[in-house]
Amino acid sequence: MGDKLAPVRVRFAPSPTGRTHLGSGRTALYNYLLARQTGGQFILRIEDTDVKRYVPEAEQELVDSLHWLGLHWDEGPDVGGPYGPYRQSERKEIYLEYARKLIDQDKAYYCFCTPERLKAMRAEQMRLKQPLLYDGTCRNLTQEDALRRVRNGEAHVIRFKTPREGNITVHDYLRGDITVENRTIDDYILVKSDGWALYHLAAMVDDHLMKITHVLRSSEWLSTFPLHAHIIRAFGWQEPTFVHLSVFLKPSGKGKMSKRESDRLIQDGYSIFIKDLEQLGYIPEAVVNWIALMGWSYDDHTEFFTMQDLIEKFSLDHLNPSPAAINFTKFDYFNGLHIRHLSPVDLAHRVKPFLIRAGLKVDDEKLLLIIPIIRERLVTLDDAVQMAGFFFRDELQINPQELIGKNMSVSESLNALEAAYKILQPLECINAQTAEEKLRILADELNIKAGQLFGILRIAVTGQSVSPPLFECMDIIGKETVLSRVEQAIKYLREMEDGLTKA
Ligand code: GLU
Repeated sequence: MGDKLAPVRVRFAPSPTGRTHLGSGRTALYNYLLARQTGGQFILRIEDTDVKRYVPEAEQELVDSLHWLGLHWDEGPDVGGPYGPYRQSERKEIYLEYARKLIDQDKAYYCFCTPERLKAMRAEQMRLKQPLLYDGTCRNLTQEDALRRVRNGEAHVIRFKTPREGNITVHDYLRGDITVENRTIDDYILVKSDGWALYHLAAMVDDHLMKITHVLRSSEWLSTFPLHAHIIRAFGWQEPTFVHLSVFLKPSGKGKMSKRESDRLIQDGYSIFIKDLEQLGYIPEAVVNWIALMGWSYDDHTEFFTMQDLIEKFSLDHLNPSPAAINFTKFDYFNGLHIRHLSPVDLAHRVKPFLIRAGLKVDDEKLLLIIPIIRERLVTLDDAVQMAGFFFRDELQINPQELIGKNMSVSESLNALEAAYKILQPLECINAQTAEEKLRILADELNIKAGQLFGILRIAVTGQSVSPPLFECMDIIGKETVLSRVEQAIKYLREMEDGLTKA
């Protein structure tokens, strides 16, 4: 351990059976980092042989999510490469050929047991509290007998002939040697009755043919890892280095997140699906930083990593095999941090679609002026709508009641705003230098706090009680619009006052 690796060939091998979540993103990321760090290759292989679970939109979402994260592959179904095809559904014959090789060597066998028979077998095993393993009925059929039945068109699968005696020791990079008794390993199905190979065979064959040196995959595969090693050894192939990555737990740390829980997250503005995070206004730099640290650390204090930092610093030795709880508070923190690292032009560019989505007409020049006064407070890009939407609205939606200053009456508020208007009106432009001092003096004269006066002005000019710094806002909005908004606010207050005197 510890030495710099020679160029690796690694693969990310998702099954397009659903949405792309953080766990897949992280597996892809670690593979990518290792490839880029060592000058090796990162390969995308689509494992789509499970026709029943195939979701047509899943692959596009996957590709989009990975690209959005900044993960680009050197070989894959769309870009090709010397070891293709990279889509397992186009490799059916290859797997069959290798399954037959195992049969020829008596390391796999045809099994003709019907689903009904297997069901009855399992029920009996359950009743007797025995392990639920295939009972080996077809294991010792003669080759001729089996082949004759195959030729006669009898339905069959191909099973691996797991040794019954002894142990197998497999090596996981993070967990060391793992030894299991062979009799606890099933005669797993390698090829189903429809002729499609299952993961156990297909992935081992592909990893071999694609010259994969390191397999970084979810620790969900640990339980079948001994079978995989058996298959690889049965062929006499070189074993890649296996690294089983920790699983993600729900934020409470108690168990894995259920489908219902992950769907519900969106109500709190979070999601475990990468595509949703993009929509929610998270930036890929933050997602990458955050997921990189869910299961890996550089030291005990460095937290901020760009992709380039990660490529330089990532190391298999610092992976943590323990499950990692998803921490969205941390995620928000990272998003703010990375947002503040973007150049104003870049940030403006990324915020713009969110403003447009909110129905605002965006002026690019104005947006560039706004960025410096909102960037410190943005947690997501979408926050810009709330914080700065008023800059792009022709008409503000003001609740007149809010124009009443804190602890002030309607006429006191009106009086204060009219006086403020008189101060602002003759100024050439309205900003902190030209207006703030004068308004503070006014507040003193009126015997109110500057905060009370600024509160009224803030509502009048921005329409909201929380906004970026008031004078910077007025500067950007421009004198003409500021004055017309103050006039409008004065009108509202007058109407309220009239209403009160009439009542
Ligand atoms: N298709 C498998 C999955 O999505 C891939 C596991 C692996 O990386 O080998 O879980």
